[in-house]
Amino acid sequence: MAITFTKLGHCTLPATRTIEGYSARDGRAHGELDRVVRACDAHVETARTEWLAGLTPYAVTHTGNRSVCGQLTDFTDNGTDDAA
Ligand SMILES: [Zn+2]
Repeated sequence: MAITFTKLGHCTLPATRTIEGYSARDGRAHGELDRVVRACDAHVETARTEWLAGLTPYAVTHTGNRSVCGQLTDFTDNGTDDAA
């Protein structure tokens, strides 16, 4: 399974939130975890509406690891299974 790490946006502030983005599966909105992004307070909405576009966002309070706003971890394995 490929995991992709990406930096989105130009913000370099420390992230205060971790926001998980789920795609629907089997009739549940939170079916499968596709992406996790980190965001500062100012970019929580950007993260939910742009960085996780098309996914169901679930905000999680940041737990203190040293992340920067805009860090994206993508768990989708593009091109092999579940190709869309
Ligand atoms: Zn930010």
